[in-house]
Amino acid sequence: MPFTIDLHAHSNISDGILTPEELIEHAAMHRVDVLALTDHDDVSGLEIAAREAKRWDIRLINGVEISVTWKKRTIHILGLKIDPEYAPLKNGLAEIRKGRHVRAEGMAAGLSKVGIAGSLEGAYHYAQEGIISRTHFARFLVNNGICKDNKSVFKNYLVKGKPGYVEHEWASLEDAVNWIVTSGGVAVIAHPGRYDLGRTNMLLLLEEFRSHGGTAIEVVTGSHTVDQYSEFAKYAHQFGLHASLGSDYHGKGISFMEMGRLPALPSNCIPVWHDWPEATLSERSFAIKT
Ligand code: AMP
Ligand code: MN
Ligand code: MN
Ligand code: MN
Repeated sequence: MPFTIDLHAHSNISDGILTPEELIEHAAMHRVDVLALTDHDDVSGLEIAAREAKRWDIRLINGVEISVTWKKRTIHILGLKIDPEYAPLKNGLAEIRKGRHVRAEGMAAGLSKVGIAGSLEGAYHYAQEGIISRTHFARFLVNNGICKDNKSVFKNYLVKGKPGYVEHEWASLEDAVNWIVTSGGVAVIAHPGRYDLGRTNMLLLLEEFRSHGGTAIEVVTGSHTVDQYSEFAKYAHQFGLHASLGSDYHGKGISFMEMGRLPALPSNCIPVWHDWPEATLSERSFAIKT
């Protein structure tokens, strides 16, 4: 029996719906053997997730998805097998989260100018103790009947040129890759097909990423089309980068993709997990350990 791997998923520590415990149970129900929890800019779900993963016989990979600004664009860099206790990484993420609070105030001010009151409190209500993100504003806008769904909120309110959008400077590419790599982890460009960079900038990004110590890109992800699987498999090959696979699961209703449903990596890829002991198992017992 081939094993199932998913190296990109969110809990409610960032903008997912499920708690870290529920996310692990969900992964078990979908027969995922190796799972990375990769919350945006926060690693505080990893400890609880690790405890729960043991009960379900799931191999948990410590992960994070770092928000980066590169050439005035937002890029996401995944850190896999990071050390969540590594001080430069922890401090860097804390700094990004501080920036999120400032940005949220700006977003609420923008929304209030077009007559939408109370969005800051509304968004924090959904964020609870976790990071504050555009997804939480989206939930507020949908649940208050201002928009019909998540997609229309982003389109009409939360992207460049719209009232709830705020230009924001995230971490630099160099810092994000450095925090990940020096903590002992592997840096991976998340969903490269989503950035609309054009070929020239994509080549520049890959070159720069690699020069900072980045070694992998997502090839098969919930946000790539089938054509993009082969496109990014080619880029990976060209740049000598390993390939990753992940659903980017956020929970029912808002995720692009369910867990455990993605196809295998194209055969010309070297999986990012090729030398990971966690990813050598061929089957799992699927029994709850008490
Ligand atoms: P933030 O990091 O606060 O800017 O929020 C980004 C998150 O919003 C992403 O991780 C996605 O989960 C979600 N997101 C971004 N763009 C869209 C979109 N067009 N439709 C739905 N969700 C989106
Ligand atoms: Mn997200
Ligand atoms: Mn992302
Ligand atoms: Mn993600």
